[in-house]
Amino acid sequence: MAIASVNPATGETVKSFEALSPAEIELRLERAATAAASYRRTTFAERATLLRRAAAILREERDATAELMTLEMGKTITSARAEVEKCAKGCDFYAEHGAGFLADEPVEPAGVGAVEAYGRYQPLGPVLAVMPWNFPLWQAMRFAAPALMAGNVGLLKHASNVPQTALYLEDLFRRAGFPEGVFQTLLITSGQVERVLRDPRVKAATLTGSGPAGQSVAAIAGDAIKKTVLELGGSDPFLVLASADLERAAKVATVARCQNNGQSCIAAKRFIVVEEVADAFESHFTAAMAALTVGDPRDPATDIGPLATEQGREDVEELVADALAKGARLRCGGQRLPGPGWYYPATVLSGITPAMRVWSEEVFGPVALVIRAADLDEAIRVANDTPFGLGSNVWTSSSTEAARCVDEIEAGAVFVNGMTTSYPELPFGGVKESGYGRELSAHGIREFCNLKTVWVGAGLEE
Ligand code: NAP
Repeated sequence: MAIASVNPATGETVKSFEALSPAEIELRLERAATAAASYRRTTFAERATLLRRAAAILREERDATAELMTLEMGKTITSARAEVEKCAKGCDFYAEHGAGFLADEPVEPAGVGAVEAYGRYQPLGPVLAVMPWNFPLWQAMRFAAPALMAGNVGLLKHASNVPQTALYLEDLFRRAGFPEGVFQTLLITSGQVERVLRDPRVKAATLTGSGPAGQSVAAIAGDAIKKTVLELGGSDPFLVLASADLERAAKVATVARCQNNGQSCIAAKRFIVVEEVADAFESHFTAAMAALTVGDPRDPATDIGPLATEQGREDVEELVADALAKGARLRCGGQRLPGPGWYYPATVLSGITPAMRVWSEEVFGPVALVIRAADLDEAIRVANDTPFGLGSNVWTSSSTEAARCVDEIEAGAVFVNGMTTSYPELPFGGVKESGYGRELSAHGIREFCNLKTVWVGAGLEE
């Protein structure tokens, strides 16, 4: 894929970039290695000051940065502004808590025959982050803020369609005062990732993106024995049980499916509704979906902007056509909008069966799949009948039903009576083909650290 900003609202190429040459990559790798050697010696307090400065710059520049993201990948301006603010919050969060998360972990010395024994978290060095376009600032920031706080050095290979946001990130950290080479953007193609990942100066990698990209990076990293974290796709279930507040569930379901123009890994995608309330939920939900405004992402009144790429829209259309050909019922939407831009409306399909591709594949656009289940047992079984295991949502007023779902749904998260979202305070990640490892919270910052065991016997002078 060419490295270029292409406006999804018009299809026009705004700015193109050349991929880095081998010599330019070498220069950046060397710079990263040099920076890592000295940056790891900085204190938590020094790193926290720099992260807080980055947060302040993000807030000052919120509107311009939001406009850039909207231009490059079509998210609505309202959600783009919220994303910038979330990034600032993420920087502040790690500035405040990073030192505590990485404090030495003492163990009872007598039990291990020591005078003193503890675990110490130390940085690994340069970490490669391969990131997707859908939350171009937040995805990169939730890697960068904990990584830099831990004393690691970041190398960002961002998606090819958000090069300007990628360059903004490098510039942001430079202006915040991070030393040269501590955070660099590599404008490279996916084909150049292997060369960077195999380089001995690169110690680990994190990838957020599709399954095939994750498989490729994990295979190379496995071969080179480097730690990876993978955040991959999802097809989150949204269970609506008999005692749920149906109107509220339908309202939240609409946002949960259509946030970010339907292009979120943790968007609710499969709406599994128990038979008893299925007609009522479906009609509330369809009405709310059909009422969403599709249009110019720069207009604050718009609910759904264009899909990010032409290919992305074609993929959605193919999946919808397959479901319809196999007997799904179209409740609303289902037709691309005429004119320029890659617009696709909020769509509801019911009568989904395992024969349809959408049963087991991720739909990366504003398309909701409604599946009926006889009871709670069947709802949980259907929820788990997917290769993915990222987030999940459950709507019920019964604490017994909620407890069963929390226990039995195979996913990295369960949100009860609320929409799945990410918070710096909570761990984020998946199971099954949605990946492994965790981002955010204390767990995220520890992923790219060497937890060194320190055992000290008698004989040291005071
Ligand atoms: P993608 O095509 O997999 O791209 C993600 C990143 O991987 C891009 O930087 C891409 O570079 C790179 N890449 C692609 N193929 C590669 C390969 N073979 N080797 C090395 N790098 C490779 O995914 P996307 O279309 O941008 O994003 C959508 C997917 O990401 C969805 O499946 C979504 O669910 C998932 N996602 C997951 C999370 C999560 O936290 N679990 C969050 C957001 C998105 P190029 O752009 O140059 O191809």
